[in-house]
Amino acid sequence: MAVADWVPIREELRSHEPYGAPQLDVAVRLNTNENPYGPSESTADAMARSVAAVATELNRYPDREAMALRAALAGYLGHGLTADAVWAANGSNEVMQQILQAFGGPDRTALSYAPTYSMYPEYARNTNTRWVTGRRNDEFGIDVARATALIERERPDVVLLTSPNNPTGTALPLDAVRAIGDVAPGVVVVDEAYAEFRRDGTPTALELLADHPRLLVTRTMSKAFALAGGRVGYVAAAPEIIDALRVVRLPYHLSAVTQAVARVALDHADEPLARVDELRETRDKLAAQLNELGLDVAESDANFILFGTFADRHAVWQGLLEHGVLIRETGPEGWLRVSVGTRDETQAFYHALREVLGK
Ligand code: PMP
Repeated sequence: MAVADWVPIREELRSHEPYGAPQLDVAVRLNTNENPYGPSESTADAMARSVAAVATELNRYPDREAMALRAALAGYLGHGLTADAVWAANGSNEVMQQILQAFGGPDRTALSYAPTYSMYPEYARNTNTRWVTGRRNDEFGIDVARATALIERERPDVVLLTSPNNPTGTALPLDAVRAIGDVAPGVVVVDEAYAEFRRDGTPTALELLADHPRLLVTRTMSKAFALAGGRVGYVAAAPEIIDALRVVRLPYHLSAVTQAVARVALDHADEPLARVDELRETRDKLAAQLNELGLDVAESDANFILFGTFADRHAVWQGLLEHGVLIRETGPEGWLRVSVGTRDETQAFYHALREVLGK
């Protein structure tokens, strides 16, 4: 549905639709890579107390610099990071848009390797940044020689890498990030929204920050931290890079309520993080089960699995929906993506899939 003819929107936006997966009220929702476990009652109580405390001061603007939250996030990330090397915003979506506002823009170029997170081209469009897409290989990894050749040709101001990648789950070796960083003329962003779910032995690009001043590593509280509804994403980078993001942020962009809730969530981080091992086990078990069904399954370091391939993936998606299971019709042609839920939700998906496929 395009924007109405009489609305004087920018012409290049007219035919576009708002981004988003269908929000359907079904029993098993495995479509947006959320953590299936909400905060415990005691954490929720602590959040409520903290919100009550700030509520009496909501006549005042919040801390514009969100210093206490940034210090807590830096403490969580470790790697010697301090508050001035961390920035937070309303989801890593907003962080990423700020990165494109500061480092992209008219006459500038951003580049990524598809299939990857489908919001990236939208940040580029919204900021009038030229958008270039390279391709991932057949295993959804990045071929370093081809990737660096593309960078040398296109001279992007922003390179967006995603590790683990959405929707494929693929993690990038640090050597690839280093090689890309060596040739990239601008900033290199590693989107680590799913980092906490990575398999043992898969490194984080946080390790590279000390030696790579133009590297930014983005994270989110929406996934492992079970705070998608709280809307907090963050980025670690050199303090000078963070200062560049501060130039484009809206004043008071992060509400006092958001900051308070996020700080409580960080104080209680042990609770959702203790679930991560279970979710990783559930993922690996599901991957094995899908393999046994004879399906192609992309290796995943995230809390979702890309599987296929289907001549008519929409029919499979629809069949699952009719069994009360909502997954995501996304990724390369013929593939589908399922988020890892509780053990029961994940098995409900698996049994529904077998029925839909007649296996
Ligand atoms: N990056 C990736 C790779 C994602 O998959 C998502 C959400 N699906 C985001 C960023 C944005 O998440 P949020 O804005 O909730 O932090």
